Amino acid sequence: MSAIIEFKNVSKHFGPLKVLEEVDLEINRGEVVVLIGPSGSGKSTLLRCINGLEMITSGDLLVDGQSVKGGNKILREIRQEAGMVFQQFNLFPQMTALENIAFGQRHVRGMGRKAAKISAQELLEKVGLGDKSQHYPHELSGGQQQRVAIARALAIKPKVMLFDEPTSALDPELKQEVLNVMRQLAEEQMTMVVVTHEMSFAKQVGTRLIFMEHGKIAVDGSPADVIDNPPNERMEDFLRHV
Ligand code: ADP
Ligand code: MG
Repeated sequence: MSAIIEFKNVSKHFGPLKVLEEVDLEINRGEVVVLIGPSGSGKSTLLRCINGLEMITSGDLLVDGQSVKGGNKILREIRQEAGMVFQQFNLFPQMTALENIAFGQRHVRGMGRKAAKISAQELLEKVGLGDKSQHYPHELSGGQQQRVAIARALAIKPKVMLFDEPTSALDPELKQEVLNVMRQLAEEQMTMVVVTHEMSFAKQVGTRLIFMEHGKIAVDGSPADVIDNPPNERMEDFLRHV
């Protein structure tokens, strides 16, 4: 099976700060990789390198066989292959739920207005919000906004979905509706990289769990195995506090 994401000895520095250090990582199609680790360990940076929001300092990073160092045209293509969902939803506040989704389809995928509208409505239904198409973000709950954000990321038909603490800003009772949408995506074989503290999601939906520490992959294994028997003392300590 060929990897859809390949980190080859990747380092990322911000000035003197080494945020990723010589990371080697292959992620195959259909994997759901859950990424955990202390604050500042480089989780967000690792995600942001995959979709070109940050450029790597050294090594190479391939997404679906194309290098992030391959120039602007290829980088644009890579960005279209990787949908990203952030902790703070980041919806366009002046657009309705439907317009938020249709925007990328029209401007990134070049879809016509009518086709984009139909497809956006289908995506809203997929995330359980078929009746909210005309609502603005401020008229939606946090959980609903995050589901719109997932639909918006899906609208550009990505091959990989990247989630950066997608439920951390949500009240407990709203987290589940977002996790359920993510679970459904996993069942549809979407390749996903998910930074989260939701260990039950990691166990039930994750196919692989990675614990990061100081910019390095410290543990990489099956979620149930490594959560129940952390092979690393710092990970054990970390899990006691999530
Ligand atoms: P995590 O998501 O695991 O909390 P991050 O990847 O956000 O970690 O950050 C790792 C380290 O890199 C932190 O020390 C953070 O302050 C630093 N960092 C992240 N982005 C930048 C940036 N754009 N400029 C400078 N330092 C950054
Ligand atoms: Mg982070």
